[in-house]
Amino acid sequence: MEFDIVTPTTKSELLKAIKTNKNNFRFGAGYTDLILELKKKNVLNVTVINLAQLNDKKFNSIERNLKFIRIGALVTASSIVNDKFIEKNFPVLQQAANNLASAQIRQVATIGGNICTASPSGDIACALVALKAKCELLSSTGKTRTVSILEFFLGPRKTAMKKDEILSSVLISLNEKNINIHSGFIKVGTRRSMECSVVSLAYHIQSDKKNLITNVGIAIGSVAPTIRFAENACGFLIGKKASSLARGEKEEFAEKVLKYASPISDIRATAWYRKEALFNICKSILEN
Ligand SMILES: Cc1cc2nc3c(=O)[nH]c(=O)nc-3n(C[C@H](O)[C@H](O)[C@H](O)COP(=O)(O)OP(=O)(O)OC[C@H]3O[C@@H](n4cnc5c(N)ncnc54)[C@H](O)[C@@H]3O)c2cc1C
Repeated sequence: MEFDIVTPTTKSELLKAIKTNKNNFRFGAGYTDLILELKKKNVLNVTVINLAQLNDKKFNSIERNLKFIRIGALVTASSIVNDKFIEKNFPVLQQAANNLASAQIRQVATIGGNICTASPSGDIACALVALKAKCELLSSTGKTRTVSILEFFLGPRKTAMKKDEILSSVLISLNEKNINIHSGFIKVGTRRSMECSVVSLAYHIQSDKKNLITNVGIAIGSVAPTIRFAENACGFLIGKKASSLARGEKEEFAEKVLKYASPISDIRATAWYRKEALFNICKSILEN
């Protein structure tokens, strides 16, 4: 493994580094995925654009206005875990970040790295799909475009990012006003920490004062080539009373989620086990 490193500290240095190195570069943020990947592929003559010293508010901070919260791509999993606003309003995201690897890895692993790795087992990425987040991409010309996270993942390790683009931040719309939130992240793994999921389920369900469901996000991880948004299952719940779903309705919901799963058998679990586990955790989130 052999590579050069450039370390931009400002946005203009970053854009210059992208332009100068054209297509032959990789970004490095927390390096918890990148180093393994470069070692595995024995990559030679690539330039690593090291983002660890970049000082830019859009990349580094968590900000919010009346409509949305913006999380910079370089914000770490542990900063997400410790953010009180996220904990209260988006438990699914806080729990997903808290489930990632170990305390040590969470200190350096970034939200941007988790998304851009585009792994079907990305915990933070799965929560962001349930939250219907948007990705802000910055190009080497300085232009920004926004892509829905649902369109961002094209396949395992494949994203909609162009060669001269970088993920700068993620936007999440704030919850509707005066609503109840039922939100969380369930990860089934072969052990409790330092483990990628065998199956994961991210859910964010909003209901009004009458307890009628108004907005739903359900995402599943590790059961298809990419994280999937279970659109039909979300639609099925809209308008229903959250507290009085019949057993048959819970099973119908779980069946609808399962339609989005096409798991494989591998060293960690069989396809059959993944489907059974997914069916059962889907039903469990609707228990009161
Ligand atoms: C022991 C271990 C356990 C793990 N457990 C889990 C787990 O439980 N759950 C889980 O989800 N993940 C897990 N991971 C994977 C990893 O820790 C996460 O995916 C992490 O969030 C990656 O972030 P990073 O900052 O380290 O990314 P990096 O390794 O720096 O980068 C990852 C990829 O994203 C690209 N990239 C980074 N930032 C940007 C950006 N801003 N714009 C464009 N491209 C960018 C890089 O070029 C690279 O391709 C584990 C890893 C290890 C080593």
